[in-house]
Amino acid sequence: MVGVLVFGDMAGGKLTPASLEVAAAGAGLADALGEPLLGALIGDDLVAGSEQFRGGFSSLYLVEGKHYRPYTAHACISAVQAVIKACSPSVALFPHTLETREWVPRLAARLNTGLVMDCTVLAAEGKELVVTKPIYGGGVLGEFVIRGTPRMATIRAGVYGPRSATPGGEVVRLDVTAPQQARVTVLEEAAAAAASGPKLKDAKIVVSGGRGLGGRDNWHFIEETAAALGAAVGCSRPVADSGWVSTSHQVGLSGICVTSDLYIAVGISGAVQHLAGISAARTVVAINVDPEADIFTRANYGVVGDYREVLPAFIERIKQPRS
Ligand SMILES: Cc1cc2nc3c(=O)[nH]c(=O)nc-3n(C[C@H](O)[C@H](O)[C@H](O)COP(=O)(O)OP(=O)(O)OC[C@H]3O[C@@H](n4cnc5c(N)ncnc54)[C@H](O)[C@@H]3O)c2cc1C
Repeated sequence: MVGVLVFGDMAGGKLTPASLEVAAAGAGLADALGEPLLGALIGDDLVAGSEQFRGGFSSLYLVEGKHYRPYTAHACISAVQAVIKACSPSVALFPHTLETREWVPRLAARLNTGLVMDCTVLAAEGKELVVTKPIYGGGVLGEFVIRGTPRMATIRAGVYGPRSATPGGEVVRLDVTAPQQARVTVLEEAAAAAASGPKLKDAKIVVSGGRGLGGRDNWHFIEETAAALGAAVGCSRPVADSGWVSTSHQVGLSGICVTSDLYIAVGISGAVQHLAGISAARTVVAINVDPEADIFTRANYGVVGDYREVLPAFIERIKQPRS
């Protein structure tokens, strides 16, 4: 069992940026363990992906088939099992996405091996794999030694820089037949609600609204501010739960962890579960009527005031030409 196997992630026929971040994490680990770096991609059309996933892999495994779209967990699991059987790696790494959150734990159970999700640091101590991940809502960093074969981890987006294009070795195509008796059948695929504008996960600027907005009718304040800044739109959980916007915008422990340079929190109190999603944001600006709100403990800049007065003045100022 040797080799660090890195799985890439495809979206809309293209390799996602997180794939090259996991390749970078895997390359560092492969060097430290003195083992080869292996890559793998699964999807319905890997023409562009196999070109873009140039991570310096000694072997790149491709599993292609129409049955990988729309996505289903059971199809992914049997494809990944086939790749693992073909190359017997000692470590398997995956991007931490909504989809891998669903199927990687099931794969680990099926292989009876160790898995840690949402890791931010991978390190080799001798032959041991030691990973770090934020726990208890991001308040504590936990270190874990992963055991089993292969040792598996998902990697949080935005923590490792992308691996620059590095030529690799052979490309190996594996034929994996569609699993019989699928438990889930996808009847229809709907485009993600957040398809327009920057993607929350990769956005440089995020404008996020909370329950303090007071209702769906006021959500345009957030959208107008985001549009003025070219920012992605985020929200707290009660906003998504109330259906003001789709859950794909939710930031936090049970939503997306942002890595933006600027995060503007409007009418958000700063519960630990929300703060867990913004720990990697560089600069946080909070707008809140309550000077005692917990969000101000995390904010680099704060405005104590009603967003209905603050945001229009802010937008007007942004739109003014700079002298
Ligand atoms: C297991 C679990 C997972 C969770 N996961 C998440 C998660 O991923 N993301 C998440 O966000 N939450 C999550 N939560 C919920 C979390 O605990 C909080 O309930 C939630 O974050 C609060 O949302 P909020 O700040 O929008 O609302 P509130 O706590 O109600 O805060 C509203 C804020 O708006 C301010 N305000 C009111 N009016 C105005 C105004 N006119 N102008 C400016 N400010 C104003 C108020 O002073 C207040 O601070 C989770 C909870 C649990 C138990």
